[in-house]
Amino acid sequence: MAESAARRLVMMFERISEAIDASQDRLSELDGIIGDADHGITMALGFHSVCAELGRPGLGLSTASTVLDKAATTFLEAAGASTGPLYASAFRRASEKLAGVERLDAAAATAMLQGIAAGIGERGKAQRGDKTMLDAWIPATEAGIRAVDRGLEGQAYWQQVIAAAELGANATRSMVAMKGRAARAGQRSLGHIDPGAASTVIILRAMAEALTEDAPADPT
Ligand SMILES: [Mg+2]
Repeated sequence: MAESAARRLVMMFERISEAIDASQDRLSELDGIIGDADHGITMALGFHSVCAELGRPGLGLSTASTVLDKAATTFLEAAGASTGPLYASAFRRASEKLAGVERLDAAAATAMLQGIAAGIGERGKAQRGDKTMLDAWIPATEAGIRAVDRGLEGQAYWQQVIAAAELGANATRSMVAMKGRAARAGQRSLGHIDPGAASTVIILRAMAEALTEDAPADPT
């Protein structure tokens, strides 16, 4: 049971990496408007390294928690800059939240989202409304909590989470950047979606795909 959760998370990182690759240019374009145009490249690099590392044999990644912990370390080393530490903290906190979890149901997914949002919040010291990735991660997490309260699972659960993330990401258009390099753009950031919030939606869609798909075949 624990091992299948671990395998499922490895698959999740593969899906995220593919999805980020497919949107890499758009993300860098978005970042170019208000930042240094590297968001797509940085994210792609980070998730490529995570997948390469998770695919190495003999790592002993037998639980969901150990997969996320390994992803944290690897993402930090590969991505650097500002995004590296943010997602490293995110995956580290998510790893702690999933300690002992053997089934990636809606409750576990919500715990993972809570860990991610908490890790990014602690590291980035951003608030909601600062026009950052948190403006997508926080509403997604809150929607996840509500969906679990309503007893939603699977696709129904993820639909709620993704819809909230999309709304949150779109709302960053009307925000002025308060954090990071984008803050220097000031009013110029108005009218443009935050690249970190845009990539959050991509990540969440890939997570949903990986976590709702039929169980992957045993790799034997
Ligand atoms: Mg940048």
